[in-house]
Amino acid sequence: MRCLITGGAGFIGSALANRLVREGHHVRALDDLSAGDPARLDSQVLFTRGDVKDVPKLWTLLQHVDCVYHLAARVSVPESILYPRDYNDVNVGGTVAIMEAVRDAGVKRVVLASSGAIYGEQRRQPVSEKTIPNPRSPYAVSKIAAEHYVFTIGVLCGIETVALRIFNAYGPGQFVPASHAPVIPQFLKQALGGGSLIVFGDGNQTRDFVYIDDVVDALFAAATASDVDRRIINVGSGQEVSINQLVEKVARATGREVSPLYSQADNGGVSRLVADIGLARQKLGYSPRVDLDRGLELMLTLDPQFQVAVDQ
Ligand code: NAD
Repeated sequence: MRCLITGGAGFIGSALANRLVREGHHVRALDDLSAGDPARLDSQVLFTRGDVKDVPKLWTLLQHVDCVYHLAARVSVPESILYPRDYNDVNVGGTVAIMEAVRDAGVKRVVLASSGAIYGEQRRQPVSEKTIPNPRSPYAVSKIAAEHYVFTIGVLCGIETVALRIFNAYGPGQFVPASHAPVIPQFLKQALGGGSLIVFGDGNQTRDFVYIDDVVDALFAAATASDVDRRIINVGSGQEVSINQLVEKVARATGREVSPLYSQADNGGVSRLVADIGLARQKLGYSPRVDLDRGLELMLTLDPQFQVAVDQ
């Protein structure tokens, strides 16, 4: 198989690219490096720096490609509240651009990395793909719009399409930006640094944390699975964990005494979120293999950014 991964130098994109080449596939990766790092890519991945909205560049990269993984996006919920136009521009505009280029190049299948954030606040948990979305941030809105564009253009132009709604992915290689960092690497960093763990809100809010290898398993299967056309499929762990429980798990995994420091809740957050993963099991043969305790251990062992602190 020949694939193009947009956002291929990012956290999920690079893990997927490296897995695909390990399995003998040809992989091209496109990334503007606004958040990615090509150094994490296997030397067999053909990397191009560029913007996902650059359609002529996409035409070149899409020659003889069987499957496009569209992952390029701005990815922070709180940041999207500050910069909704940017989120619309990249996440929606970038998706329309890739679909236009895919149409012209005659690519067979597009796999979209969508998000569990689309569900927003929901009384009934776990959320299944039938749950009516209730977006609470421009990021979530941009992902719903991306799904609609992918499916609509797919139907009009005979392209197979599937959207995976990924929940809170974590694992080695995840960036810890200075602001709006994802909670797991942030907590590990804070715990190993001997500081307090900053909890936004009362810590009773829950999330579904899914290990990177499990996310990659689902993406990998989505390129070739039958009967997934125009489907939305949740990709999570199926386990609901509160932020306060996560604090305890981080304390156990790092062996450090940690004290949570409660701060004002983040905008755009929800009180509960956990995925029903029945459809992924059925359509993708998906079965998450790494639970949160093991995932934290793996991050501490495999991610060089935590290694120095662990050794001290
Ligand atoms: P990431 O920020 O590490 O990866 C996104 C990549 O896209 C980055 O490398 C960035 O440089 C690149 N990019 C951004 N704008 C671009 C542009 N205009 N042109 C080309 N490249 C551009 O984030 P990630 O966690 O790897 O997320 C990958 C995808 O998965 C995103 O679409 C995200 O919305 C989705 N997703 C992630 C999670 C998660 O928990 N990590 C959850 C749900 C959905």
